[in-house]
Amino acid sequence: MSGKYIQIAIDGPGGAGKSSLAKGLAAELGKTIPFVYVDTGALYRAVGLYVLRRGRDTSSHEAVSSCLDDINITMEHKDGRQAVILNGEDVSGLIRTPEVSMAASDVSAVPQVRQFLLSCQRGIANTVSVVMDGRDIGTVILPDADVKIFLTAGVAERAKRRWLELREKGSAKTLEEVRAELELRDKNDSSRAAAPLKPAPDSILYDNTVHDLKACIEWASGVVREKCRDKIAALEAEASLTEGKR
Ligand code: C5P
Repeated sequence: MSGKYIQIAIDGPGGAGKSSLAKGLAAELGKTIPFVYVDTGALYRAVGLYVLRRGRDTSSHEAVSSCLDDINITMEHKDGRQAVILNGEDVSGLIRTPEVSMAASDVSAVPQVRQFLLSCQRGIANTVSVVMDGRDIGTVILPDADVKIFLTAGVAERAKRRWLELREKGSAKTLEEVRAELELRDKNDSSRAAAPLKPAPDSILYDNTVHDLKACIEWASGVVREKCRDKIAALEAEASLTEGKR
């Protein structure tokens, strides 16, 4: 069990709906206590973007590691929105392209990159209650998380969701191309030696192929309320005390 704050880990492959669930859950639980949603994929994306901009080979562990000394990444949370700051620049809007997705998947296989981002992720979870989504949150980053959820969905459905998302942003990629990229990332993420994507033994599996976000948030929030009854009560008391002092 983690310390005073609540830690919720949501892992799973791309397009399974992790970020929608994590955002919704943080908003729901955040009604009574401070909660932030942390999209850890954005950190790997920021490293990928940096390496691409430097014109280095994202699949070379040596080239990627040699960039790390020049990278400073922080996260800012405002009004439920997360901004990723790379060397002082807000890159939140620039890291969602298919090119950066592949670069993120490449650099995420580099053990030095994972080590580099570990303290950033744990640091946030030590200062506030979090819903953190990623690939290794329950297995590596927050092994004592109060609740661990592993979200899955069939590849055809995940590809369709990503394709629709990209199309909305003006991308001309075909559904087949998006599916091929997703399958390649799944393969990279699951087969890498460093922190591969896999469910933690104590995680709860949730199949999100038939996507009903409201039902999924309700289910997860019920699990958290049940498992974290005492912590929620203590944090709610603390929050109302702080409110009262204002
Ligand atoms: O979740 P998202 O698609 O934004 O993640 C981009 C890439 O970052 C993933 O394909 C994965 O390779 C990597 N990642 C990771 N560990 C995390 C989060 C993301 O390796 N905790």
